[in-house]
Amino acid sequence: MANNSKLLDLIEGFNRRDRMALAKIITLVESTTDDQPVEVDWTKLMKSKHSTIRVAVSGPPGVGKSTFINALGRKILAQGFKLAVLPIDPSSEVALGSILADKTRMKDLLNQENVFIRPSPAKGALGGIAITTSDVLFVTEAFGFDFIIVETVGVGQSETLARTLTDHFVLLVQPGSGDQLQAMKKGILERADFILVNKTDDEQQDLAKKTWASLKSLNVQGEHERPMVSSISALQDVGIDSFFQKLLTRHKKLKDSGELDTRRNIHLSELFNQIFVQVLASRLAKKPAIKEKCREAVTDLLVSGGPMRLTIDRIVGDIFRTL
Ligand code: GDP
Repeated sequence: MANNSKLLDLIEGFNRRDRMALAKIITLVESTTDDQPVEVDWTKLMKSKHSTIRVAVSGPPGVGKSTFINALGRKILAQGFKLAVLPIDPSSEVALGSILADKTRMKDLLNQENVFIRPSPAKGALGGIAITTSDVLFVTEAFGFDFIIVETVGVGQSETLARTLTDHFVLLVQPGSGDQLQAMKKGILERADFILVNKTDDEQQDLAKKTWASLKSLNVQGEHERPMVSSISALQDVGIDSFFQKLLTRHKKLKDSGELDTRRNIHLSELFNQIFVQVLASRLAKKPAIKEKCREAVTDLLVSGGPMRLTIDRIVGDIFRTL
C-alpha cells in the first residue's frame, strides 16, 4: 500500500485539483477494507464544501443513456461547470458491464479538462457496489465538481443505489414502449423525477408522441411530486436545453426550501443501514464456525426436511447468544 510520502503527494495533488491524484485516491477508496486499513484522514478528502448537483441517469441498455449524458454534458460545460460521470458497473448483477464501460458515445466529454469519467469496478470491497460507489461519490464531490451524473441500467441494486445517492432521478424510455410502460411496474416510473422519452427524431417521432401521451395518461404520482414527462432526442440535441433548465429549477427549489438537505440526510441514513447490514451479513457468513453450522443445517434439511425459516432462526439465535 502507498507509503506515507506517496500519500501526502496524493493529498497535495488532490488539493491542487489534479485529476490524476483524484483517480489514484479513488483507487485507494475502492481497495480500502477493514483488512487493509490505509492511514488517511478521509474527512479531509470526503467532506465537501461544494454545492454539487447529483443526477442519476437510468434506463434499459440501448435507450441512449450515454448519448444523453454526452448531450447534457455539453450544456453543463458550456456554462463553465465541472462535470463528473460515474457509471455504476452492474456486471456483478448482470453481464452488462461492458456496455456501461463503453464511453465512446460520450465522445464530446472525453479528454475535456472539466470532465472526469470513472466507471465503478464490478466488485467492490465488503458491502459490494454500494459502499464503494457512495465513497467514490463523496470523494469526487469534495474534489469540487458542480455536477455528478451517476449512470446505471434501470434494474436492481444499482438503480436503487443511484436513487439513494442523487438528488434528481432521470429515467430514459424508448418510444413505442407504450404497452411495455403499461405493463411496467408503476413503481419504476414513480421513482423517477424526470421521465424522458428519447429518440423522438425521424421516423420514431409518432411513436415517441404516443409513448409520451401514454405516460402522461398513466398519471404517475411520483414519490415526492409528479415526475416531469418530456420527449427528447439525445442524438439531435432536441429538448436537452429545456430539460437542463427544468433540472436547475428543480434543484434550486429543493435547495431553497431546505428539502435537498433533508432528503440527502434521509438517504445517507438509509444507505448506511443498508450497507451496514450487508457488511455484517457478509462477514458473519464467512466465519468458519457459522459456515459449518449452515452446512450441517442444509444436510439436515435435505435428509429430514422441515421449515428452512426455523432452521435459520435457530442458527441466528445461536450467534446472538454468543455476542
Ligand atoms: P445506452 O446503452 O443507454 O447508453 O445507449 P447509447 O447511448 O449507447 O445509445 C444506443 C444507440 O441508440 C446508439 O446507436 C445511439 O446512437 C442511439 N441513440 C441514442 N440516442 C438517440 C436518439 O436520440 N435518436 C436516435 N435516433 N438514436 C439514438
